[in-house]
Amino acid sequence: MLASMKKSNIEWPIASYIIGYHLALLVGLPFFFMTHTPSAGIWIASAILFYISGISVTAGYHRLYSHMAYKANKGVEAVLLFFATIATQGSALKWSCDHRRHHAFVDTDRDPYSINKGFWFAHMAWLFYKTEPIDPKVVADLYRNRLVVFQHKYYGILMVVTNLIAVLFIGYLTGDYASAFVIGWGVRLFFSHHTTWFINSLAHTWGSQSFSQEHTAVDNYILSLITFGEGYHNYHHTFAHDYRNGTRWFHFDPTKWVIWVLHKCGAAHGLRRVNAVQIEERIVIEHKKRAA
Ligand SMILES: [Zn+2]
Ligand SMILES: [Zn+2]
Repeated sequence: MLASMKKSNIEWPIASYIIGYHLALLVGLPFFFMTHTPSAGIWIASAILFYISGISVTAGYHRLYSHMAYKANKGVEAVLLFFATIATQGSALKWSCDHRRHHAFVDTDRDPYSINKGFWFAHMAWLFYKTEPIDPKVVADLYRNRLVVFQHKYYGILMVVTNLIAVLFIGYLTGDYASAFVIGWGVRLFFSHHTTWFINSLAHTWGSQSFSQEHTAVDNYILSLITFGEGYHNYHHTFAHDYRNGTRWFHFDPTKWVIWVLHKCGAAHGLRRVNAVQIEERIVIEHKKRAA
């Protein structure tokens, strides 16, 4: 039996955590702003943390671990895992297993965040239900990666400790520990989660499909601005092993730029890319299909 989504099968710890912090922000933020005025330093430090932790998810969890679009040295992996843990999106092992299933079974019942189950399901509600357990066959390569296995084994404690370090560091820099917690943790987490979740919801509904109509993924430039370049999702679902999501120089894809810089510094290698001719051919084929 497909042990996929059973509506009665609520993942209580994750559901309570996500709903809990949303409610806490909704109720607590107005009171907080009545009594506190966070400094520019708090906002800047929180925005930097948002950006670094977000790119660590897209460059690490997504393009490195889920798609093996490039290889990185262990130092880079450790840094990516540290900051991706702060982003609080589960372990790299679980994230990659779910994501590989998303690509393999896109838009079907076995897609963990299928858009066909509704916008809000794909966006965040899928997290409230138990998903298929990690299949060692799906992520056999990641089970051989000691850093990934370590992060998975101690994920809960690592998530708390890394977030605590981040909040205390922002508090130490600014001298305002209360704002460091509310903005640097709560507000930053809210934006970090929803921008990632947009890739599963908006990037499967709002945009163009130049490369393929065989799946619901779409390309959306605006979305790429807030998802560290992951908005070129139609291209990505068509050529998932490419380390780039936006292939042209003017495409806003900071994740690909980070990987490229790491490569130039000798910290990443084996960058996989689809050549320009193949990409053009794909566009022409798709174009002809629609004209027929
Ligand atoms: Zn997708
Ligand atoms: Zn992907």
